[in-house]
Amino acid sequence: MELHGTNSLVECQSCGRRTDPERHFEFFRRTRRPPTCECGGFLKPATISFGQNLRLEDLERAASAAGECDLVVALGSTLSVYPAADVPLAAARRGVPYVVINRGPTEHDGLREVTLRLEGDVGEIFPPAVEAALGVQNP
Ligand SMILES: [Zn+2]
Repeated sequence: MELHGTNSLVECQSCGRRTDPERHFEFFRRTRRPPTCECGGFLKPATISFGQNLRLEDLERAASAAGECDLVVALGSTLSVYPAADVPLAAARRGVPYVVINRGPTEHDGLREVTLRLEGDVGEIFPPAVEAALGVQNP
């Protein structure tokens, strides 16, 4: 679940329709005018900006996943923005292993729910760990 939205779509601020951003970016590059939806509403990247609420259905899907997962991994986050930072804790409080990988401190450092805390670059640490867990051979 992309709780804080996505840059891979644009969203109409009036009707909520989500579409591929490329033609709208091209329109803006060409005209320097803000792109609009067919309904007349302004378009912006489908990210959650400060002051915008998270989407309730996304929060519910995340909570549901936290209630069913076997492992929770927080990657590249200070875990300081709530309620998103509560999602991995909800899973960990069920007793599933909780791994935190981040360069720099996180708000969950030192919590008893954290099973493994790795300090460093997610892009360097996580892919080889997944490959090792899956038994993938390096070429
Ligand atoms: Zn619209």
